[in-house]
Amino acid sequence: MMVDLDRFKAINDLHGHACGDFVLSETAKRLQKELAAGDFVARLGGDEIAVALAPGTGAEKAESVARRIAASVASPFIYNEIKLSIGSSIGLACLEKDLEPSSALHCADQALHFAKKNGRGTFAWYDEQLDSAAKERRILEQDLRQAVRDGDIDAHFQPVFDIATNQLCGFEALARWEHKTRGMISPDIFISIAEDIGLIAPLGWTILTNACLAAREWDASLKLAVNFPPNQFRDAHLVSTVKDVLNKTRFDPRRLEIEVTESAIMLDFELAKKSIRELRQLGVTLALDDFGTGFSSLSNLRQLPFDRIKIDQSFVSDISESPENQKIVAGILAMAQGLNLSVTAEGIASTSDLAFLQGVDCPLGQGFLFSKPMTAEETDWLLETKWSELYRRDTALPTQGTAEMPKAG
Ligand code: C2E
Ligand code: MG
Ligand code: MG
Repeated sequence: MMVDLDRFKAINDLHGHACGDFVLSETAKRLQKELAAGDFVARLGGDEIAVALAPGTGAEKAESVARRIAASVASPFIYNEIKLSIGSSIGLACLEKDLEPSSALHCADQALHFAKKNGRGTFAWYDEQLDSAAKERRILEQDLRQAVRDGDIDAHFQPVFDIATNQLCGFEALARWEHKTRGMISPDIFISIAEDIGLIAPLGWTILTNACLAAREWDASLKLAVNFPPNQFRDAHLVSTVKDVLNKTRFDPRRLEIEVTESAIMLDFELAKKSIRELRQLGVTLALDDFGTGFSSLSNLRQLPFDRIKIDQSFVSDISESPENQKIVAGILAMAQGLNLSVTAEGIASTSDLAFLQGVDCPLGQGFLFSKPMTAEETDWLLETKWSELYRRDTALPTQGTAEMPKAG
């Protein structure tokens, strides 16, 4: 059994290490009380505790011990008259006859991770599927490290259009990883892994640099939008690094828009507020991405100087079929106008969705109806052929839905 104390780090940070030590020794006493002769308990380090139950203990008995341990750790600890509430998460694994003790520890640890993921304060049993998912994930992590080192992750670009005139206004850079054997891996998957394993800073700066270099080739009227993940927004050097990249690539800050999601702001509101102000002083504009999902906090919009909100595609795709989404989008547009914010609708996938957005004067849009994200070379082709001019209100859209870019020439 692996036992992990749920709020131990916060206790150490808030009340000091002596208090942390007190909690550990008190926990040891409580655990010993719950165990029988033949059981064994040891602290492995930090707040991680291993419990080996006596040989022959069945699953039912193990679960009842886990419940008792959880209940005993959950009752408050009193330190210098401070009442501390600590919980525990527990992972359980059964030591089969042929299993090495170290494998049993590993299995219990996997189960513990699972218990924590499922909301702390619970226990979970080891299951082989969990383990294969964890192995798979470790392989992907290694591949990602290699890909970042080898520069295999590149920026693709999705065009953004003025909805009223169908004129091209710029592109959003989107990271793409062409894995050597698994094919294209979605940024929704690898960006969060990169954040977890501390690779997001080098990856983020490479994408920004490459995107600025590509965008320098475009007409100066076109803007470049780049996504910044939550952790990058917690970096105290964020603004100076952006400035550095802009200087090195000689890219005009006024052409750069940084997209952040609300989760980025919520991690450290004051730091985010400061960074957003300083970025705007550089001339960079800021967009709040995926608006409508997550917090959608109106106080964020009031307190932070955003230039634009991007309406999440879940409200936009099939909008012509959904009266609810139509009302939500119309409401967001009215609010944005009142707050002097521009708006981009994401995920426009059909001509009827586009027609609805034109009808409610949504300023900008992007989506597979116009184009899927394309490589830097394809953007050159797009600009040379003035593809945007093909999109007049009265012209049929050439790549409806499929959006495979025709090859250059
Ligand atoms: P996002 O910033 O909201 O990007 C828009 C996503 O919607 C992109 O997915 C784009 O390909 C997709 N999309 C655009 N039009 C349509 C449409 O008509 N229909 C549908 N179904 N989808 C459409 P992608 O490229 O898979 O990116 C997913 C998310 O991953 C992005 O959402 C962004 O949050 C994140 N991401 C992508 N590139 C980067 C990056 O360079 N850095 C960071 N930090 N995050 C990135
Ligand atoms: Mg985005
Ligand atoms: Mg988005």
